[in-house]
Amino acid sequence: MSKLALLGGSPIRTQPLPRARSVGPEERAAALRVLDSGVLSQFLGEPHPDFFGGPEVRALEEEFAAAFGVPHGVSTNSATTALETAVAACGIGPGDEVIVTPYTMSASATAILKQSAIPVFADIHPRTYCLDPRSVRERITPQTRAIMAVDIFGQPAHWDELRAIAREHGLKIIEDAAQAAGATYRGARAGTLGDIGVLSLNYHKIIHSGEGGILLMRDQDLCRRSQLIRNHGEVVTEAFGIEDISGIVGTNIRMPELSAAVGREQLKKLPTLYERRSRLGDLLTTKLSGLEGVEPPVLDEGATSTYYGYPIRLDPTTLRVGRATFARALAAEGVPVGEGYVLPIYLQPLYQRRIAFGRDGHPWTCGHYKGTVSYERGLCPVAERMKFRELVIADIGAPPQTEEDIADVARAFEKIVEEQDALCGWERSIAVGEPARDGARTGRG
Ligand SMILES: *Cc1c(COP(=O)(O)O)cnc(C)c1O
Repeated sequence: MSKLALLGGSPIRTQPLPRARSVGPEERAAALRVLDSGVLSQFLGEPHPDFFGGPEVRALEEEFAAAFGVPHGVSTNSATTALETAVAACGIGPGDEVIVTPYTMSASATAILKQSAIPVFADIHPRTYCLDPRSVRERITPQTRAIMAVDIFGQPAHWDELRAIAREHGLKIIEDAAQAAGATYRGARAGTLGDIGVLSLNYHKIIHSGEGGILLMRDQDLCRRSQLIRNHGEVVTEAFGIEDISGIVGTNIRMPELSAAVGREQLKKLPTLYERRSRLGDLLTTKLSGLEGVEPPVLDEGATSTYYGYPIRLDPTTLRVGRATFARALAAEGVPVGEGYVLPIYLQPLYQRRIAFGRDGHPWTCGHYKGTVSYERGLCPVAERMKFRELVIADIGAPPQTEEDIADVARAFEKIVEEQDALCGWERSIAVGEPARDGARTGRG
């Protein structure tokens, strides 16, 4: 092939990959409709029909439930608060353990802590990066009450096996589908694969309303509990005849009418936005297949992905250059990638020092907790390997990217694999501190 851009050759791309913009005239019209009505939120925190919100919020919830094929939807102001609501609605509280992946956005785990329950981290599968069902089994104790499974990078977790484990042990499953709106698993939609599912409408997600979250569920009781937690539920439990008031310590995490109106328009665009992301990601997988040392994402059988991030494993046993060098060479070709995704969550100071609420180690030290839990380095070796050594993440799915953009991404990977030997020399020179022959840094190429 040709000389690497990092070593002074010409880059594959001179233009950055185009960025998404899915908000247009439809959202503008919806926002104006709400502004003209003058009612920017219609929620009331008292026993009244408006306890359940105004017309846009209620229509949004009905439309999401219908589009995802479940009876109930409940909106919130973010997926973070929706996850907290889900954990509480499932009746999880002090002394309970919830098994969760460490390779996710930090809110999947803090949602558990917020109920004074204990996050127990199981390792991820080395090909799909979602919870490994075998590791989940190993982490089950008498304290385990639920599994929080995340469809990470937009690819559904190993749901058949996870649900089998949950059935066997009488556990609830919460699905964090914040990155997966539109993806499917054996015909069912991500967000509806557990007992209760959560979508995110934050600006960076597949569809958005600025900020926002949606809970999806089949069970009416989980729906009602979620509605109560969202909106000062303790005020209405008596009027609504709620017997089990445990966990109904309400809050205000209500979605404004403006966001709901925008979210409704975005939902209409989801099939198109999803189809494009999914098709471009599948195309990149086809193009990268067979390239030595470069491993495209593997989906569980019967799963489709949004490719919210497109994870690529660089196999250190096959490649002759390290990940950092590879990533630098990619960036020089005009195809920047992220290295490793998030720190495995248990390595955050919060878990290492066990300081959450107060200074005395609550909830780990609270009298209700009868178990022990480890957050030691090495706890989830696959997650640590992916973070520190093996994974890069490309951002490929955002419209208006085209097949041609995807072809460039694939060509950049091929070029680097083919020109590895030249890159090895460069890597050694950097290591021994010689002046870098770095085209990008010196302005050459
Ligand atoms: C973005 C994200 C969240 C949080 O969503 P917000 O709407 O920003 O609160 C939770 N979990 C995962 C996996 C996410 O990617």
